[in-house]
Amino acid sequence: MIRMDPLVIISKGKGPYDTTRIALKRFPLPDLENRRILIKPNAARLASPGEGVTTHPLVVSATIDHLRENGIKEIAIGEGCIFGVDPQEAFRKTGFAEMSEKKGVKLIDLDRFDPAERIIPDGRLLKKVKVSSALNDFDWIISIPVMKTHMHTHVSLSIKNMKGLLWRREKARLHQLRSDESIGRGHKALDLAISEMATILMPDLTIIDGTVGMEGMGPAYGKLKEMGIILVSDYALSADAVAARLMGFNPESIPHLKLCSEMGMGEIQLQKISIKPKDFLKWETPFEPSPSTLSISFPDVVVYDEGSCSGCLSTLLVFLREYHSQLDGYQMEDKNIHIGIGKHLKTCPDGTILIGNCTMRMKRRGIFVRGCPPVSSQIMRTLSQKRSR
Ligand code: SF4
Repeated sequence: MIRMDPLVIISKGKGPYDTTRIALKRFPLPDLENRRILIKPNAARLASPGEGVTTHPLVVSATIDHLRENGIKEIAIGEGCIFGVDPQEAFRKTGFAEMSEKKGVKLIDLDRFDPAERIIPDGRLLKKVKVSSALNDFDWIISIPVMKTHMHTHVSLSIKNMKGLLWRREKARLHQLRSDESIGRGHKALDLAISEMATILMPDLTIIDGTVGMEGMGPAYGKLKEMGIILVSDYALSADAVAARLMGFNPESIPHLKLCSEMGMGEIQLQKISIKPKDFLKWETPFEPSPSTLSISFPDVVVYDEGSCSGCLSTLLVFLREYHSQLDGYQMEDKNIHIGIGKHLKTCPDGTILIGNCTMRMKRRGIFVRGCPPVSSQIMRTLSQKRSR
């Protein structure tokens, strides 16, 4: 029977492994014989399983078992980490190194391969992107993200997770694009870039790990959110829309989801999606949205963020958490601490703390901290050195 409506299966249970197995058993997989499957989890940061930052390895382990029971032999796991993160350390910490070894599945650092260019035929902002050439070895991609909020994109789900397939600095480039009004039409360049990227990098299957997600300061420094749910769909956009709704957000208010639906990549109106169980909203657990600026969490800190990527944004969050109490004396006349990040930073007061190589052009204007990204201790060290001179 040919299924016309997008189908999203949701299961809620006790552990990541069993809950994933149940959801996958209920989902009608297509014939995958002879497919070469790449599983793309979120394993791009230094975080342990269950912290809500990275995909739980047991979700991927259950997926591998299910695929093998369906006769699929060629399976690998691939990830390209964010700037400043050692992939081998990330794979160890996230539990993926151990899990993949146990399962006998290859775990690929996608950034170790050469780049391969992919044209985006209808791209207005993005004409082409560089992806890892490792993707050429696969013809079916499963995106397995964690359900979490994101300071740049509101939510980080299966479509956003595909950004990890971009090659090295290409991931950061998406954050640094600018669009004029004729292209952007009121949308942020990053949202437009993600939706245009999705036109050539849409997952074939989506499994959203909502066992433990993250709310607030996602994608890495928010609060854990225990949901105990797993979503499965072969319509990534619909899966993301249902997940966003379960997080308490209107999918139409998430710019990159809305843009993808306007570009014809799928359905985000819940009444047009076949969602099982029908009473799925009994599992809705509103997530605290990500703050649009760090100044909300640190009221005496003014952040000028123009075109930063997750590397510097994460570094800044860690830095403020670890060292905020030691920043006495770095306030400016208005009694605030001023910090600038991002490639397009142009205006900030003299004396601003400028973090990351992207701000190098401005270095005469303030205290420049080199690195891409620098680590938080290095920021503090640079500040202390400047002060003692
Ligand atoms: S300096 Fe910071 S914002 Fe610029 S590319 Fe590096 S990590 Fe990203």
